Amino acid sequence: MGQDVTRLPRDELRELQDERLAETVAHAYENVEFFRRRFDEAGVSPADVESIENIETLPLTAKEAFDDEYPTGLFAEDLAEVVRLHASSGTTSKPKLVGYTEGDLDVWATVIARSLGAVGLGRDDVLQNAYGMGLFTGGFGFHDGATELGMTVLPIGSGQTEKHIELMNDLESDAICLTPSYALYLAERAAELGHDPANLPLSVVLYGAEPCTEPMRDEIEKRLGAMAVENYGLSEIIGPGVAAECPQQDGLHIWEDHFYPEVIDPATGESLDEGEEGELVLTTLTKEALPMVRYRTGDMTTLDYDTCGCGRTAVRMNGVTGRTDDLLIVRGVNLYPSEIESVVLEFDAVAPHYRIDLDREGSLDRLELTVELAEGFDGSTGDLEERLADRLQSVLSFTPDELRLVEPGSIERTVVGKVQRVYDHR
Ligand SMILES: [Zn+2]
Repeated sequence: MGQDVTRLPRDELRELQDERLAETVAHAYENVEFFRRRFDEAGVSPADVESIENIETLPLTAKEAFDDEYPTGLFAEDLAEVVRLHASSGTTSKPKLVGYTEGDLDVWATVIARSLGAVGLGRDDVLQNAYGMGLFTGGFGFHDGATELGMTVLPIGSGQTEKHIELMNDLESDAICLTPSYALYLAERAAELGHDPANLPLSVVLYGAEPCTEPMRDEIEKRLGAMAVENYGLSEIIGPGVAAECPQQDGLHIWEDHFYPEVIDPATGESLDEGEEGELVLTTLTKEALPMVRYRTGDMTTLDYDTCGCGRTAVRMNGVTGRTDDLLIVRGVNLYPSEIESVVLEFDAVAPHYRIDLDREGSLDRLELTVELAEGFDGSTGDLEERLADRLQSVLSFTPDELRLVEPGSIERTVVGKVQRVYDHR
């Protein structure tokens, strides 16, 4: 085995990144008209970009580029070289179409295998894949990565909850990859079927594709009796496999030999210092079909360059709990749904299921928060409502216009796809 690139001294890693950035920028400029035009407008020639030091001279790429260049205008390779397409939902009616060469698929499998290996999974382990095997990148991404690692993969997909539980018990499966909301649903369904979800054989729950707060992670760990770790990625960059948590659960290691991260102020586009919260911007360093330069992910995070407790030197990003486009502005107060989630989950008397409804009454915004009571709650709902409202006010300086506590199980569960918790009727 060669040297582990995730534990390289940072100056050695930087040399590799310098070289790969220069190649990526040249590749994008030569083969993608969109990037050539943008670099020319910014007055940057690929020859000027010799190292990461120069990265801030390059223009940022907004997600609208995928709409403007639909379907394949951002591709740097002919379809003859592209062996796979995936798509994610777009900001308008068109999906964001992403392409992979054989080399890209190899890189993708490598980074996911690395993410799975980082939590101790390997050849002897069985992984249940609860992501759909379709245009969405989650299913095939984990399938190929786990196969690369030599794991035994069950491509069950989402929605087949009983099948997951049955096979998990029969095969003593070690791990499952899924969305955090589906993890909670799986635990509920297992209990309904007469199993103790905490006694299911799983030892690792790999969650991703949705924002997830720390209290929500704690719920998943408690309910499924397993270590829950986050995996991060987005189709525009490669899919899952951009970053993953190790068992330290102290931030997600970004696989920096393939993806270079920056954090910017989302309002001004200025680069921020280590530790400052802002929007994550990613540049691919090895992608062939779809090189991406300074792509604005919309995800809010911070970066930490200290060596992790696991010994890896790879930078860590905080788990993404907010996206720039999730920001709710209600009567002039800025709120992230994740902030409301963190407060709500402080209360044992409520279940980790809630929804936020926004409306407008005249010219005023109205926010209605609906939260499910925990199973077996027998206290006073009036008193609980008051304590919840007080806590929201003291932490967020915000009180919902209406706070409703509802019976366990009454908020609709997401079984397939990404959970929706915010409904903006304005
Ligand atoms: Zn670590």
